[in-house]
Amino acid sequence: MKRRQFLTLPLVGVPFYFARDLLGQVREKTSNLSVRKPVVVSTWDSGITANKAAWPILEMKGSSLDAVEAAGRASEDEPSCCVGLQAWPDRDGRVTLDASIMDGDGGCGAVSFLERIKHPVSVARKVMEMTPHVLLSGEGAQGFAVANGFPLEEGKLSPEAEKEWKKWLEKSQYKPVMNIENRSNWRPANADGSDIPPPYRFDDGSFNHDTMATAALDASGKLAGMVTTSGMAFKMRGRVGDSPIIGAGMFVDNGAGAAVSSGVGEEVIRICGTHTVVEQMRMGRTPEQACREAVRRVVKRDTARARELQVGFLALSKKGEIGAFSIVKGFTFSVTNSDWPKGKVFESKSWF
Ligand code: ASP
Repeated sequence: MKRRQFLTLPLVGVPFYFARDLLGQVREKTSNLSVRKPVVVSTWDSGITANKAAWPILEMKGSSLDAVEAAGRASEDEPSCCVGLQAWPDRDGRVTLDASIMDGDGGCGAVSFLERIKHPVSVARKVMEMTPHVLLSGEGAQGFAVANGFPLEEGKLSPEAEKEWKKWLEKSQYKPVMNIENRSNWRPANADGSDIPPPYRFDDGSFNHDTMATAALDASGKLAGMVTTSGMAFKMRGRVGDSPIIGAGMFVDNGAGAAVSSGVGEEVIRICGTHTVVEQMRMGRTPEQACREAVRRVVKRDTARARELQVGFLALSKKGEIGAFSIVKGFTFSVTNSDWPKGKVFESKSWF
């Protein structure tokens, strides 16, 4: 199932305060929580799945870094439009993945434009732990992954991704290949093609994103974060979003807090989104206020345009406070700790 269907179906025709997710939970519209540690928070309703993988590690007093990596792997395994190898491709029909991971002491690793590797979040962790670098990209990232034992997958689109891509090709009249079955011939017909941007919304009105991002605070008080995504569907080949950019898609500092984002990555990069959020927390703002300030900076740049797109920030302070904020309605996040061992979904407040 597409993640956006998962998100929207249960809400159809019901007033917000009765809205329930698929687990039957009422979604509360609050983002000023103070919770018991250890705790794990993830973007979207599907963060429940990510948190479910992270929680046993945290519950057993494991590290937040192990927990967020497990969350990322669970998301990468789950078929969806927006994360992992079954996700929707770029406009040339290739799935390219971005991921990052960070501990609260400045340790970080990331991969971008990575193809045919199932678990980019784990490759990002290897970059962090086994190289002097922070970010590996494309062919180099793939070679590094294979050299470290990650299998090179087939690189075939999932049936749903192929269907959606073909629909988009028809609609946008973008013709990257004459014969899509003949993959060795794949190359863009329109090498420039900058006239066809990825859509901010799909035909059903849902936004073109759903990056999975997780932050965790472990029993010893240490924070970690991760992001994993296929980026925006039908993006220009080579496009990299905010997710693998430390300080844009994710930032963690044990002295203040952790922040992650989902939405139009270019807008997040422009304002160093999650670094902004963490610095605001350091200055004493609550996680929700800090996320709101980052959203304000995106909106301020072009208010009319901002209404048309979505960016959501989610933050976890070192004290275990949680907050979120988005540009427009609909940004949800999942929280799991000993009070909600099966996870609980909240909706953030929004600018519009
Ligand atoms: N932030 C991601 C990107 O721009 C998109 C998403 O949230 O799915 O690549």
